[in-house]
Amino acid sequence: MVDEHVLLRNSRHLLLNEFNENSIEFLLESRILIVGAGGLGCPAALYLATAGVKKIRWVDPDKVDISNLPRQILFSENDLNVPKVIVGKRILKKIVPTLDVDAIEEIADETNLSKLSSGCNIVLDCTDRFKTRHVINKFCVKNKIPLVIGSAVGWSGQLMVVNSLKRNTACYACVFEENQEFTDDPCGAFGIFSPLVGTVGLLQAGEAIKTLLKINQTTGKLLLLNALSLNFDRINLTKNTNCNVCS
Ligand SMILES: [Zn+2]
Repeated sequence: MVDEHVLLRNSRHLLLNEFNENSIEFLLESRILIVGAGGLGCPAALYLATAGVKKIRWVDPDKVDISNLPRQILFSENDLNVPKVIVGKRILKKIVPTLDVDAIEEIADETNLSKLSSGCNIVLDCTDRFKTRHVINKFCVKNKIPLVIGSAVGWSGQLMVVNSLKRNTACYACVFEENQEFTDDPCGAFGIFSPLVGTVGLLQAGEAIKTLLKINQTTGKLLLLNALSLNFDRINLTKNTNCNVCS
């Protein structure tokens, strides 16, 4: 049973046809792994926490840098050189004191994803590393954990939900080959429009909530956003029957 205070707090979600008391309870009980505490991870974590998720495991090895501040909205100039997940946890708990945050200063990779995702209902890939994204995709497909992938560079963003619990839906490797060459830290190399990366992070939080609650799930689609032209395109993806990750 959800107490009255929580119901009152979530009353505007409860006015939506797709939400009920069980949804609020399910969000409270779900644990979310967020990989990355940068321009995607900060807004995603903030909205998940305020929208009713209670348990967040947050992983990022980096410390706050002055160039992060225009888009990594939980950090200030007082936090320079402090681990991002430590600052992020402190600020989130100030906003939502009942929040349970595991802050882990590590790089997520093949060696620790099993431990990091233990007990988690969904994973958000908020990294800026192409290789890490493939590793997380492979892990989530193999272990049938839904995954919400966001990325952004320059004026362009992408969003994709990979849900292997649903049959015949594409995974990240169906669309992007692993051996493609991409620059790590693309925002450092090519720049990034701050409100764009924030938008993608918020959409990740939204898709995570919808996927958890089984509301109009968008798995098998790729959203391409361009903040310069304000074009939003959604591509229907087909599963690659030769994909060496999901087929
Ligand atoms: Zn695949």
